[in-house]
Amino acid sequence: MHQLTLAEIARGLADKKFSSEELTKVLLARIAQLDPQLNSFISLTEDLALTQAKAADARRANGESGALLGAPIAHKDLFCTQGIRTSCGSKMLDNFKAPYDATVVAKLAAAGAVTLGKTNMDEFAMGSANESSYYGAVKNPWNLEYVPGGSSGGSAAAVAARLLPAATGTDTGGSIRQPAALTNLTGLKPTYGRVSRWGMIAYASSLDQGGPLARTAEDCAILLQGMAGFDPNDSTSIDEPVPDYSASLNGSLQGLRIGVPKEYFGAGLDPRIADLIHNSIKELEKLGAVVKEISLPNMQHAIPAYYVIAPAEASSNLSRFDGVRFGYRCENPVNLMDLYKRSRGEGFGPEVQRRIMVGAYALSAGYYDAYYLKAQKIRRLIKNDFMAAFNEVDIILGPTTPNPAWKLGAKNSDPVAAYLEDVYTITANLAGLPGLSMPAGFVDGLPVGVQLLAPYFQEGRLLNVAHQYQLHTDWHTRTPQGF
Ligand code: GLN
Repeated sequence: MHQLTLAEIARGLADKKFSSEELTKVLLARIAQLDPQLNSFISLTEDLALTQAKAADARRANGESGALLGAPIAHKDLFCTQGIRTSCGSKMLDNFKAPYDATVVAKLAAAGAVTLGKTNMDEFAMGSANESSYYGAVKNPWNLEYVPGGSSGGSAAAVAARLLPAATGTDTGGSIRQPAALTNLTGLKPTYGRVSRWGMIAYASSLDQGGPLARTAEDCAILLQGMAGFDPNDSTSIDEPVPDYSASLNGSLQGLRIGVPKEYFGAGLDPRIADLIHNSIKELEKLGAVVKEISLPNMQHAIPAYYVIAPAEASSNLSRFDGVRFGYRCENPVNLMDLYKRSRGEGFGPEVQRRIMVGAYALSAGYYDAYYLKAQKIRRLIKNDFMAAFNEVDIILGPTTPNPAWKLGAKNSDPVAAYLEDVYTITANLAGLPGLSMPAGFVDGLPVGVQLLAPYFQEGRLLNVAHQYQLHTDWHTRTPQGF
């Protein structure tokens, strides 16, 4: 049963082959048995899951239907869940039980999804390896000595190991697409404003976006359908109708114009990944797509711009964690300043502290123009490059990451080495564009992802291309040994 996709589960439930309660029990047992190897969950919500599963079964018995009704999922542990610990992977929020549900959580619950638990993540979503979590590193099911990617690494590892069919993630600079690539999943970062950020603990507000992680594009369509939509509680949510994503999967790719940026294939890209990307291009050509070389000339400035803007916004967002209202408070503070300093010094891990310092520096008087303002200008140039490219092509294709997964600890002493892994993903966040990563093959037994980018609100186009590709390839069906 654990091999079923969301689409198959929906059919099985509709045909009464099994109940949501049965399925939920099977998956909870599987998590109890296998997750100790992976560490992909921070909290399990067995009681809630069984209550939701029974309620979904009752709704189906009453004649209700729906692709998510009774479907088991999990949430990255930065989506607020009422009465349930919402830790953001941090000691700072280890004792925090959210007083309300995030919009995404509430919407999926209303659609009948069953929450099995909260997944592990890099602390405050900062990272590309899922090693900065207060709850310990997550392991990659393809090789337990390797990282699963981050920051939605817990969601990715759990889905890849078939502990559950799909999970939510968030993507500020690649945190859905990069772990999807490193664990052989399909992951989608929607257009900025497509999915509500209300109740999603902020890392960098102008870049953060929630989205689905699943094994197939078909399943990403189902989960995204439940997450997307206007939310008056989020001032950056966009009031744009949500199309039927599952209906968009079957379009023909005949004449689809694919742009391949020449800058993507420079030094730094593992040549074995380049080969796999070229194979995926050939596959799409067979389906009728037309390939064209394009240029994104400002791409080289993306990492420095992102690593100014994201920490700047983080330093502001994280100032609310001061030991006063909620979260960790140090023991026996001698005065208010001591309370602030020690609560933050003890509550935040080293990567979070590093980013707060970088961000506060970039925003401080005298440096604001030189760093933050400059980075914002680069951001506009990057967006302009994409707008020009999308005048000529329908989607942009390239690698999701320059390298496959690396060994646990391999990049710990050099944060910049990890930052460089984001080179292909962060431009979509800087421009607010939707992006998808899907399985494209293996290097030394480790999965490789191909990334597709589309114009604003063209999530359906990304899912369409990915689904057609998955009908003609089988990379996404490969299962890690032992799971
Ligand atoms: N790796 C990037 C960072 O550390 C992206 C993280 C994310 O998308 N949340 O900032």
